[in-house]
Amino acid sequence: MPLMHVRFRRFTSLNTTIRLREGQIYVGLSDLLEGAPEAVHRAIAHILLAKLYRKPISAAHNLRYKRFASSAAVTRQTELIRHARGSKRYLGPEGRFYNLEEVFDSLNMRFFGGLLGRPELTWSEHMAKRSLGHYDAAHNTIVVSRVFDRPSSPRYAIEYLLYHEMLHLKHPVKMRGLRRCVHSSEFKAEEARFPQLAEAMAFIRRL
Ligand SMILES: [Zn+2]
Repeated sequence: MPLMHVRFRRFTSLNTTIRLREGQIYVGLSDLLEGAPEAVHRAIAHILLAKLYRKPISAAHNLRYKRFASSAAVTRQTELIRHARGSKRYLGPEGRFYNLEEVFDSLNMRFFGGLLGRPELTWSEHMAKRSLGHYDAAHNTIVVSRVFDRPSSPRYAIEYLLYHEMLHLKHPVKMRGLRRCVHSSEFKAEEARFPQLAEAMAFIRRL
């Protein structure tokens, strides 16, 4: 077996490369794959080696990798990274009407005693309506959809969205057996304390 060098690199997509040079194999994997399940790493290894040696790719491995690559969480993360690394249109916290850092700091004082560390905050590049806000733990970034950055969008709606994501900072994902528990009962109890919860939810539903 040739000596192998495997490195995770900062690609802007789920890139993988494999090369044989002077009897040694060089593999480059996007760092987006670093946290992938072991079965996915095995599938990638199989696919890359099959390509290198021009052997057929097993359908099961191919399917496993395709499923992983197209899963919602992964596509969202690749998109985010592509925006952050690959494009100059990374918007940052300063919107046209609202500044996310200012909103974050005021919520931090009101609800968290100023104790939460401020992550990266950014408006989404697109007017996303499917993902209104999310916290990306791997890159410590809260992304808020730009649909909220307009005068017709009440401040409490943005506050609620950020508040929800801030609770994710405070309550990391717990494992209950094999299940990930994202919104624990403590999380939900604390979310219910948001004063304009009902108005915010109604506004979001109208969106
Ligand atoms: Zn959530």
